[in-house]
Amino acid sequence: ELPTADSRIRMRTYVLSEVSSDERSKLLKRPVLKSEEMISKVKPIVDEVRSRGDAALLEFTAKFDKVQLASTVIFPPFAPETMQIDPTVKSAIDQAYINIRKFHAAQVDGEALVVETMPGVVCSRFARPISRVGLYVPGGTAILPSTALMLGIPAQVAGCKEIVLATPPRSDGSISPEVMYVAHLVGASALLKAGGAQAVAAMAYGTKTVPKVDKIFGPGNQWVTAAKMLVQNDTDALVSIDMPAGPSEVLVIADHTSNPAFVAADLLSQAEHGADSQVVLVSVDLSQEKLDHIEKEVDVQARALSRVDIVRQSIAKSIIVKTSSVEEAIAFSNDYAPEHLILHLKNARDNVTLIDNAGSVFVGSYTPESCGDYASGTNHTLPTNGYARQFSGVNTLSFQKHITSQEITFDGLKGLGPVVATLADCEGLEAHAHAVRIRLRASST
Ligand code: NAD
Repeated sequence: ELPTADSRIRMRTYVLSEVSSDERSKLLKRPVLKSEEMISKVKPIVDEVRSRGDAALLEFTAKFDKVQLASTVIFPPFAPETMQIDPTVKSAIDQAYINIRKFHAAQVDGEALVVETMPGVVCSRFARPISRVGLYVPGGTAILPSTALMLGIPAQVAGCKEIVLATPPRSDGSISPEVMYVAHLVGASALLKAGGAQAVAAMAYGTKTVPKVDKIFGPGNQWVTAAKMLVQNDTDALVSIDMPAGPSEVLVIADHTSNPAFVAADLLSQAEHGADSQVVLVSVDLSQEKLDHIEKEVDVQARALSRVDIVRQSIAKSIIVKTSSVEEAIAFSNDYAPEHLILHLKNARDNVTLIDNAGSVFVGSYTPESCGDYASGTNHTLPTNGYARQFSGVNTLSFQKHITSQEITFDGLKGLGPVVATLADCEGLEAHAHAVRIRLRASST
């Protein structure tokens, strides 16, 4: 059946030089996240798990995941029969593990930074792993062993002592063998069969059976995201989170050298994530013929996908922005700060220096986002919603923190002490000045 003009799966088009600054700001916006409303919805769940621990966790799992468990935590070694997977999938996971591990092991900060700021005054900075981490692997609608790899590998190479991996149980109460296998590969110290706000709360506060963690990582639906935001603000939980998360997004920049079928495939690989996914195509001086070609490819390829209904919704909310130069296109992209940025450009690599804001960049027509999503080596847990302006994606340093240190000799103190005493006097903090002068006096007698 031929699509009618109305039923075509297509994006809205804007010419960047013709839109007003108000319209431009609207093009840069994502759908509003109702975070306050969600936080008030998850608060009762978080409070129950905090006060009643395992009993509440089991009740919420029965209610939301429709499975009555006797206990929620499994400890290693995991039984081999729970990790039985197709050999082809196993070797794909193994290759992804090798690549992601190679890239993340290279990021470990293992060497102290040592700087003598004045003679006899030595300052240093060194990294230590965050001791206990909680990794949330979503599991409501799909199994996501890739997310388990992306969170587990940096935790493992950073040297975190306890790695708690949480994921919702399936209807029979088990965890998918692919996720179990990855939990085993990354050396998880506990596996929590729970999802949503209740899993986040259990890891933030700890229960009799669930170990408390120091930092919680991972994507998830709005229940998970709101619970992470809530617990990070509770000083009793004393827990931090990786970053605020929102619906996934891609911005593709394409010029006349681009392959329309590849461009369309990249747009759709993002659009199939969910109805709230954001897809933006920024064209650089493209002929109408080429643009029509890309739009036709989007429509034809979308119709062949099993998730066509999701794609129809996300593509309807997506936009094409026409620009007349690479500079204009990248300036728009920098303002948008996309989670994923794909460059279908002649000399794509040369333009990377112009990029100021993006979660991860895919350079050239043979670099689909899918490779970074699964197995090239880079992480797929990235800042969304414009947070690429100030956040990095999850990386090995997300699992380490830095301690600074200083050591001063007596000669060093003779040089630095008067500076410190003067500043302490200036601020009226006598004891501070005294701590310096008492030493200088003691040694001069
Ligand atoms: P999920 O694991 O995030 O959520 C499932 C849990 O949500 C359930 O266990 C349940 O406890 C809770 N829940 C569902 N409905 C509820 C309700 N009415 N009240 C209370 N709790 C409820 O799995 P999901 O729902 O499939 O969502 C996965 C999300 O993760 C998607 O939004 C997807 O886009 C995102 N994701 C992002 C990335 C990334 O890297 N950016 C990767 C993978 C997944």
